[in-house]
Amino acid sequence: MENIDLNKKRHSASHILAAAVQELFPDTKFGIGPAIENGFYYDLYTTHKFTPEDLKTLEDKMKEICKAKHPFVCKSISKQDALKYFKDRGEVFKTELIEELEDGQITTYTVGNFTDLCRGPHVEHSGQVNSFKLTHIAGAYWRGDEKRPQMQRIYGLCFNDKEELKNYIHQQEEAAKRDHRKLGVEQKLFTITEDVGPGLVLWQPRGGMLRKILEDWIRNENLARGYDMVYTPHIAHLHLWEKSGHANFYSENMFKPIEVDGQKYQLKPMNCPFHIAIYNAQLRSYRDLPLRLSELGTVYRYERSGVMHGLLRVRGFTQDDAHIFCTHDQIEKEIEDCFAFALHIFKTFGFEKYKVELSTWDEAHPEHYTGSADDWHRAQEALESVLKKNNIPFTSHAGEAAFYGPKIDIKLIDAIGRPWQLSTIQFDFNLPERFDLTYVAKEGRERPLMVHRAMLGSIERFLGILIEHYGGLFPLWLAPLQAKILTLTDAQLEAAQNLLAKMKQAGLRAELDASPEKLGAKIRTAHIEKVPYTLIIGAKEAETNTVTIRLRSGKNITVSQDELIKTMSEEANTRSLENLFK
Ligand SMILES: [Zn+2]
Ligand SMILES: [Zn+2]
Repeated sequence: MENIDLNKKRHSASHILAAAVQELFPDTKFGIGPAIENGFYYDLYTTHKFTPEDLKTLEDKMKEICKAKHPFVCKSISKQDALKYFKDRGEVFKTELIEELEDGQITTYTVGNFTDLCRGPHVEHSGQVNSFKLTHIAGAYWRGDEKRPQMQRIYGLCFNDKEELKNYIHQQEEAAKRDHRKLGVEQKLFTITEDVGPGLVLWQPRGGMLRKILEDWIRNENLARGYDMVYTPHIAHLHLWEKSGHANFYSENMFKPIEVDGQKYQLKPMNCPFHIAIYNAQLRSYRDLPLRLSELGTVYRYERSGVMHGLLRVRGFTQDDAHIFCTHDQIEKEIEDCFAFALHIFKTFGFEKYKVELSTWDEAHPEHYTGSADDWHRAQEALESVLKKNNIPFTSHAGEAAFYGPKIDIKLIDAIGRPWQLSTIQFDFNLPERFDLTYVAKEGRERPLMVHRAMLGSIERFLGILIEHYGGLFPLWLAPLQAKILTLTDAQLEAAQNLLAKMKQAGLRAELDASPEKLGAKIRTAHIEKVPYTLIIGAKEAETNTVTIRLRSGKNITVSQDELIKTMSEEANTRSLENLFK
């Protein structure tokens, strides 16, 4: 309900913008002015070139119009009258739109002195639009056709109240500062080049280290939770994907097959059929279950060239994938363990809030789904009962499940309040059937249940989220470079090298900057690279086996080298989210 109202406000704001434009720039011809996510825009045609200063003037004029509380007056007129009205005013774009409408009554809305062709709905009066901001101007072809006139599109934000607007602007500013593509360059983490191709990530040594730390961690967590580790190839016979059904219902997301020795092979978009092949390679008994196969599996999915976005949307990525094969009796415990795993991940990385969504089938249309009603009910009950038992708030979405099974999605909320889809626990009634998965039960053969689960989603995406969540300031255990040792002059080179060797011996990741740059410049570089600890060795430190820690706050603390190593090791080993030196 709230969103419908907000859309009404946003769309009404576009009329108010048009009214302001008409008053201040009367030669303007008007295109269209819809509500969009977070605001609105209006397409305008005029020889005047709008400037950022104009936006300020227009915003003031809009405020005046809002203050006057002009009603939105609706009028129903014939197509002919509408054509005459807009033609007389030289509104060529509006005229074109009206000509395409069916014969009959047309509605116009007037706010203040501006009358627009519009279906509505709007707010009652302009005073109800009170929290907006014009943001920028962009070019847009009339009706998106580059052969048609180029319009100027003025964009604005619009929210329910000033607080919401302020929060949104603040979040945008924070997001820009934390943009992982920018930080990825500054911190020398990863590169994406035209030569290699869009959506294909190259990890620089520091990013490679970051990734290794995360991968080691998640592998160990899997092993500790009773998962087995498997490896599978990147390509397989196309017929595997035909058998799994992906070649049919998932083909839009797949790369084209490649031909090898006259046979077609498919680059994998998923790991599931491989894990199934591993399951099926042996006769399984109920004693083998639950079987949990995990893999950091690299998959390739086709994405249109325009939609790639840093690490968040790519064409090749590595899932922390796992498939659980189990009996009906075991499923609730398995789901519960997945959930506990997800919560452990959130806690480890310092995500305090999350949202859980349960997607179930549309009971009225069982024909849209595979699997029996009994399967669906039992699976949905298992998912729901785990959530309830653990007092986890969730929203239910009937009819949102994939055709092959219900699922739970867990979205985390990052440090600046943005939600990110992360973990998925997804039932599958389709693949066990297609690949005829069975196990020897106490009596006869039975079909196991199968659950796909990814905790981090993809390693690339998760690291992208982490970079933005931390704003590049990684906790010490994750930081690829934990400390940089800076010398004041060449006289401290030996002392600095000794400290570096001691730190490495202790398993700490440190580098020495012995360049001839001034100390101030070296500190700035370390600051941009967001190294957790900047360590300075001057004459006094070299003499006394101490080190001065230059904190990000600008504060200096001098400690013994032994204390430095002991405290840093403790901070890293406990995966502390805060620096112990502060
Ligand atoms: Zn309207
Ligand atoms: Zn899967």
